[in-house]
Amino acid sequence: MLSYLHEFHAGNFADVHKHASLTLAMTMMQAKPSAIAGFDTHAGSAEHDLAGDRASKTGEADSGIQRVWRLRDRLQARDWSPMLAELARLNPDEGPLTRYPGSPAWFSCLQRAQDSLTAFELHSGESSRLQEWARKRRVTVQVGDGLEGLLGALPPRAPRLLVLIDPSYEIKDDYRLVSRTLEKAWARCRHGVFLVWYPMLTSGLHQVLPDHLGGSGIRKVWHSELLLNAPPERGMTGSGMLVVNPPWGFSERLDAMIGEVSGRDGLYVKHRQGWLVPE
Ligand code: SAM
Repeated sequence: MLSYLHEFHAGNFADVHKHASLTLAMTMMQAKPSAIAGFDTHAGSAEHDLAGDRASKTGEADSGIQRVWRLRDRLQARDWSPMLAELARLNPDEGPLTRYPGSPAWFSCLQRAQDSLTAFELHSGESSRLQEWARKRRVTVQVGDGLEGLLGALPPRAPRLLVLIDPSYEIKDDYRLVSRTLEKAWARCRHGVFLVWYPMLTSGLHQVLPDHLGGSGIRKVWHSELLLNAPPERGMTGSGMLVVNPPWGFSERLDAMIGEVSGRDGLYVKHRQGWLVPE
């Protein structure tokens, strides 16, 4: 049974990393007019209440998106603009953010008429909230396994593909499952842009994922890691993103975004990145 609820962690430094990467990849792909088929394999509930009990209990957004929000008037990198505009729309009042979009909402707010989004969610409560949110939007929700669902939908009819794979990794085998699915998905759509998030753990469990992908035959795999400057003794020490087929110039632009919010008064992290597998 699934017990993970993303609202406890919504807007933390890892969400900032993941959602900055997603919005950057999508806006860069939209430099061309051709349609993008979007797939969000582990969508969650789409919108989070940062003032509610769950998010307040962990306070994780305080060292994540709330810090970015406090810096907003000083941010020069124009690639923050889509995120800041959506946050401002959802939070018209002064003060800390109370509403924070989950990944399907980031996809959806950037969607053009020609783009589509299919969002998968397995948890019954989370999928009900996702379906309710999607009712007035051009988003197809599928209640079920996102990895199987993705493979069943590939190759897409649209000429371009953008996929976010963001499991909760509640099951240890998820790392292996994700890498195997990515291998199959890439074989069905080699030009697709695939973003995979994973936690960096003191146990080193996550290492299965980059290790497997490195030897999988998939080409053009970019690796971006945000390492906490003050990591805990046990648990998550950083946030990892794998990007297959990053748009040209993606790494410089992501680095410029993260660099601006990485100081002591922002996300307290180091950014390291490079090719896991080059072309
Ligand atoms: N992508 C979301 C975001 O960025 O806002 C957060 C997603 S959260 C990390 C992972 C979600 O995956 C949880 O809501 C969980 O219920 C769901 N989940 C777990 N296993 C799944 C599966 N096999 N297929 C689809 N969803 C799954």
